[in-house]
Amino acid sequence: MKRLISYKYSIIILLIIFSFSVFLIYNKTAGSNSDNYNTNNDNSNNTNDLKDVVEIIPDRKEKIIIESGSTFGELMTKADINSKLANEIYQTCLEEYDLAKIKAGNEIELIFDKDSDKLKSLLYKIDSEEEIFISKKEIESEKDNIKDISDKNNISTSTDIINTVSAQETENNKVWQVEKRAIPYDVKTVVKEAEVESSVYQAALDNNIDERAIIQLANAFQWSLDFAMDSQKGDTFKFVYEERYLDGEYIMPGQVIAAKYVNSGNEIALYYFEENEENKGFFDEDGNSVQKMFLKAPVAFKYISSGFTTGLRYVEAFNVSTGHRAIDYAATTGTPIRAVGDGTVVLSRYNGGYGNMISIRHNGTYTTNYAHLSKYAVSYGNRVKQGQVIGYVGSTGFSTGPHLHYEMVKNGVKINPLREVLPPGEPIKEENRDRFYSEISKWQEMLK
Ligand SMILES: [Zn+2]
Repeated sequence: MKRLISYKYSIIILLIIFSFSVFLIYNKTAGSNSDNYNTNNDNSNNTNDLKDVVEIIPDRKEKIIIESGSTFGELMTKADINSKLANEIYQTCLEEYDLAKIKAGNEIELIFDKDSDKLKSLLYKIDSEEEIFISKKEIESEKDNIKDISDKNNISTSTDIINTVSAQETENNKVWQVEKRAIPYDVKTVVKEAEVESSVYQAALDNNIDERAIIQLANAFQWSLDFAMDSQKGDTFKFVYEERYLDGEYIMPGQVIAAKYVNSGNEIALYYFEENEENKGFFDEDGNSVQKMFLKAPVAFKYISSGFTTGLRYVEAFNVSTGHRAIDYAATTGTPIRAVGDGTVVLSRYNGGYGNMISIRHNGTYTTNYAHLSKYAVSYGNRVKQGQVIGYVGSTGFSTGPHLHYEMVKNGVKINPLREVLPPGEPIKEENRDRFYSEISKWQEMLK
């Protein structure tokens, strides 16, 4: 009997403990839900666990892909955004960006509040770097707002407020705000390497390297190497670059940070460095800019990357014995041709066997010629910048098929542009050297 009583007591005590626990948990939950209403909330530090659970319910997102010919207004109507609100957003956005300029193929993301399902924010990526973010932001706390509204109602300054119900009154105390910001990518640094079998492009594909990353790599080397012409079977490359993610999804490659290319046994390495806001770019291991007077190739790698393997890269190479003192780039009609260096257009006309031809005088020593063009993009007397498109590949003059005939003339003599050694670019300033060497040491380690 005595044992039974003590057993009963134990159960009662257990029940009391249980009830108390339930009470505590309930209070915690209530505390987190009432966060918005309590100005002096002492529970905030204790409610983190439960808050996390609450916040799992996300706001509703709707992505609209902009079709060609559609306007911002039409897209908003389709998304059930009334014209008054659409106009309010449009006007707010004008401070930073004109939504009339949205591009077909891009996306507009609408974010609706998880509780009210009202439009809360709008996101538009202008390009790969920047986005426009328009959101409705509260200016005061909710309690203050209600007080504020009643004050305003007494004064009757705003016609909007007069006919509103309580839910809308809160809305009136939020204002649309626009912000132009860098796209907040999550960045991951990766190291990739490959050996060239048939072409740099193919080597990248075979090693699961994003082709956009290999095009950026080619751009980094554009003053040092012509990936289409210089690369040989057995060449190797290794590079460190950023990968950009949004919400865990891979979007695109970012900055190339460091790269090494071994071309027929010769190693060329370069490192990205920001000396200051104005001077950022690639430097060799001695801190000299890799930017030189001439680009290695008059056709950007991205236009000839996929179509041509080692044997088919060019129609005809530079060859003194055959008298072909030029390089013929195989490329389809219409491929853009770029000026290899700054200069002045000294010829832009039909010129016999050369067909449509452009000559650029770079200085007292060098001139470059571009022949068989289908179209011109510059005319006689124009000043051109390095990399600027000057014309398009064609097959005019004595030509059996579309290609670019490219010549470099030095002091009146046609030379092989691939063999011409040019002095290195501007070095990093003495005061920034230490920062440069310490920054690249970790990349050098990764490229080993
Ligand atoms: Zn030729």
